[in-house]
Amino acid sequence: MTGIDDLPIRDELRGKSPYGAPQLDVPVRLNTNENPYPLPEPLVARIAERVAEAARDLNRYPDRDAVELRTELARYLSRTAGLEVGVAQVWAANGSNEVLQQLLQTFGGPGRTAIGFEPSYSMHALISRGTGTGWISGPRNADFTIDVEAARKAIAEHRPDVVFITSPNNPTGTAVAAETVLALHDAAQAARSDAAGALVVVDEAYGEFSHRPSLLPLIEGRPRLVLSRTMSKAFGAAGLRLGYLAADPAVVDAVQLVRLPYHLSAVTQATALAALEHTDTLLGYVEALKAERDRLVSELRTIGCEVTDSDANFVQFGRFEDAHAAWQGLLDRGVLVRDNGVPGRLRVTAGTPAENDAFLDAVRELMKEKSA
Ligand SMILES: *Cc1c(COP(=O)(O)O)cnc(C)c1O
Repeated sequence: MTGIDDLPIRDELRGKSPYGAPQLDVPVRLNTNENPYPLPEPLVARIAERVAEAARDLNRYPDRDAVELRTELARYLSRTAGLEVGVAQVWAANGSNEVLQQLLQTFGGPGRTAIGFEPSYSMHALISRGTGTGWISGPRNADFTIDVEAARKAIAEHRPDVVFITSPNNPTGTAVAAETVLALHDAAQAARSDAAGALVVVDEAYGEFSHRPSLLPLIEGRPRLVLSRTMSKAFGAAGLRLGYLAADPAVVDAVQLVRLPYHLSAVTQATALAALEHTDTLLGYVEALKAERDRLVSELRTIGCEVTDSDANFVQFGRFEDAHAAWQGLLDRGVLVRDNGVPGRLRVTAGTPAENDAFLDAVRELMKEKSA
């Protein structure tokens, strides 16, 4: 039988594993940071309407530049994220993963490197690899905040072309202070002062769940700073595949060099526009999830777990001697959480109140078993 290794694949892909959060069919699924609330019925009806409209034109290619959608995304950011941005500063693609891929195709690639501060979002390393960009794993403090001095040193030593900062960070939930972003941005520009500088990507996939304001205002006057967002989490639309960035218009022009023509389907654009019409309702769910996230943090601490402060819609908890055994123990009780490979720790997504109760009951049982 032919295996991958019998094929002429690129050397750097040999022996590697694809992204693979288990998609298991269990009663309580709290493992991929999805929003537990289905879209409200009036929005579902509006999507049907807008998609029907789009369907009448499906013989034509979609708007290649997604101008109407980018205009609405810019309006949303202007209203909620603390900086007035225009359509020329916003770009959209099929999930923020595609946004990140376009950025790495444009600013990374063979002979170039990207750095991230781990543990962090595993796709930053995977997309780097997929685009032939060398990956550098930078450090964090024991409490999972970014060690600014160590990060500066790593940037000065490796002189990366792209710097990833995830805030709130996945899987730890840790928000990054604006001063930290600025310190790393300035360090990255200084390290590449021989060239045109370095691109700093702030991945704010969980921005709407944070106690802190968005880092969006930092893009002002910094053409090498990019903010990446998604409708997968706060908008409860992971199945839609819609991510976007805000940056200097020159960055938006630059990614046009690598994007596939007509990459955003007319159906996707119509659906995202319908969802943006219901922003206020969807942000109402975000408030409910933030309250549930805070409840998870405090109840897990009461149970005796060590919990990392969270600004996201998930919580990192432990410590377990054997995190994978604890993961299995919860799965045996019908609750699927995520083992991100952080020693002694697991990650749980904030679900509905009933799902969170089931999760907390399972943790209580597990801890009792452990101390028995
Ligand atoms: C979930 C997540 C994304 C979202 O990816 P999409 O492709 O937009 O679904 C991006 N960044 C981080 C850190 C995430 O956790």
